[in-house]
Amino acid sequence: MSPNEEKITLTMCSEASTNCGVTLKRNRLANGELAKDHEAMIEKNDESAIEIKYVPKIKWPDLSAQIFIHAGCLYGLYLVFTQAKLLTSLWVFVTIYTSGFGITAGVHRLWSHKAYKAKWPLRLLLVILFTITGQKDVYTWALDHRVHHKYSETDADPHDVRRGFFFAHVGWLFTTPHPDVVAKRKSVDMKDLEADPIVMWQKRLYIPLFALLTIALPVGIPCYFWSESLWISFWVNFNLRFCINLNIAFCVNSVAHMWGQRPYDKSISPVENIAVSIASLGEGFHNYHHVFPWDYKTGELGNYPFNITTTFIDVFAWIGWAYDRKYVSPRMINRKAYRSGDGSHVWGYGDVDISKEDLLELDTMN
Ligand SMILES: [Zn+2]
Ligand SMILES: [Zn+2]
Repeated sequence: MSPNEEKITLTMCSEASTNCGVTLKRNRLANGELAKDHEAMIEKNDESAIEIKYVPKIKWPDLSAQIFIHAGCLYGLYLVFTQAKLLTSLWVFVTIYTSGFGITAGVHRLWSHKAYKAKWPLRLLLVILFTITGQKDVYTWALDHRVHHKYSETDADPHDVRRGFFFAHVGWLFTTPHPDVVAKRKSVDMKDLEADPIVMWQKRLYIPLFALLTIALPVGIPCYFWSESLWISFWVNFNLRFCINLNIAFCVNSVAHMWGQRPYDKSISPVENIAVSIASLGEGFHNYHHVFPWDYKTGELGNYPFNITTTFIDVFAWIGWAYDRKYVSPRMINRKAYRSGDGSHVWGYGDVDISKEDLLELDTMN
């Protein structure tokens, strides 16, 4: 190491105040100044910021939570086959697929991508369904998802699939994020969600809402209505259910970025995967979705049975609670399909990187 350089191990804090170990080799600077300086360099795409050597560290509380969820899931599965009542098992299936709409139609298509608009009763319903899944608050989920689309397959992608199946599937949740992720989280426009009182209400009260809607409600209903034991109901209706829901969502980040076809853009990792689509209520048309993230259908193909979230949104459009559904014309699809790559990494409708040509056509369509 030259006299002008020093190796500094510093603690950069993510928004959740978790530690991430980063070794920087840069000219002499005070510790605190370096952290700020480096984030600013990343925001400005300063080439010299590439000197960073990122060493991910395990976030032990998050890893412990994942171990508990997955080990408890196996025990819950054992109880399903040995002691749980049939209605309790059916209740797992019902809650997985009804609460799933809170992810697909809610935090994903509505709040992450602005692919359609929803009146407050639908937003409230979606926020309740989403909270039942226990997958953080809407704001945090949508922020990471926008960063994922905007910086897909770069160091700033929170679940960058270039780091392998396991990292994209679950590893990213219990390791310290790359500093580019931390920096880019600050650069994504979230004003629309900050202006949504339902989103900010759920963010503010997330812990009591988690206790009520992720644990008490799904566990309590079998105990109250068909006298299931609290012990069985907890492992089956909280743990098993939570774990299945999580892994279906995880598959969109891992499987749907690895195995399948890429008809719209062969230069990116997302694929069309019908199995993921069926499991995730229509979210497996992922190559299309990364190319056209504002389309409320998230796929060109996939009729109602394979894309049931589209059915869900259309039903609510029919009663007037969902409106202004964005979609893509066959002409736009063909144009993109014959084009190579560029302009596909946008987070949704309203992103500055949507081409003027596409935006003009979208506005005339809607
Ligand atoms: Zn998306
Ligand atoms: Zn993706």
